[in-house]
Amino acid sequence: MFRRPDFDALREEMVRQQLAARDIRDERVLAAAHVVPRHRFVPRREQRSAYQDRPLRIGRGQTISQPYLVALMTQLLELKGRERVLEIGTGSGYQAALLAHLAAEVHTIERHASLAERARQVLAELALDNVHIHIGDGSLGWPDAAPYEGIIATAGAPRAPQALLDQLADGGRLVLPVGAGTRQTLQRWRRDGNQFTHEDIVPVAFVPLIGEQGWYAP
Ligand code: SAM
Repeated sequence: MFRRPDFDALREEMVRQQLAARDIRDERVLAAAHVVPRHRFVPRREQRSAYQDRPLRIGRGQTISQPYLVALMTQLLELKGRERVLEIGTGSGYQAALLAHLAAEVHTIERHASLAERARQVLAELALDNVHIHIGDGSLGWPDAAPYEGIIATAGAPRAPQALLDQLADGGRLVLPVGAGTRQTLQRWRRDGNQFTHEDIVPVAFVPLIGEQGWYAP
């Protein structure tokens, strides 16, 4: 007989050792990571590993990122609570769940319907009803709900898609990995009127953004 792990204790340890002990300083991000049950978003066989310091497989050849990277990208959005945000690459729904605690309204787009459906189910079970899941090509953004104060892409693009820059609100932030394969850089873009500036944050390795303003499907 296997005993069920103490997920609450594992999560507390994750926040302390992997996030707070590194450079996650935004108290709201730390609080959200503390309450969102990451193990609910991964396949059953991966649940025991859900709080480890690494990415995990979620099916359809896709991954849920390492907890630290999810927290870092979220922190870079500088959310205060009243924003409308867009996520590209719903995957498991974990990142969307964090955003649901940190912003007023979350739109998230996934190209694999089966992943979107599973994420929808978990988010509904957790009563996170400010998240709207869409199926489609997120490299084109989701113009129907634009503009967004924050946009986050969790798949690597060849360059910041113009569609996403166009859908940023004035003063808005876009956080995304740019580059191919293992040579990607996490970038943060800011819009100031019609001016766009960006900074490079850290090297990263994400799955590719497949779509019209991403990489084309093989
Ligand atoms: N944010 C996710 C989470 O919390 O589990 C992790 C996402 S995973 C690293 C990247 C996701 O982007 C995959 O599920 C992949 O199918 C999706 N994706 C890739 N290209 C896309 C596109 N053009 N539009 C929407 N989703 C896309």
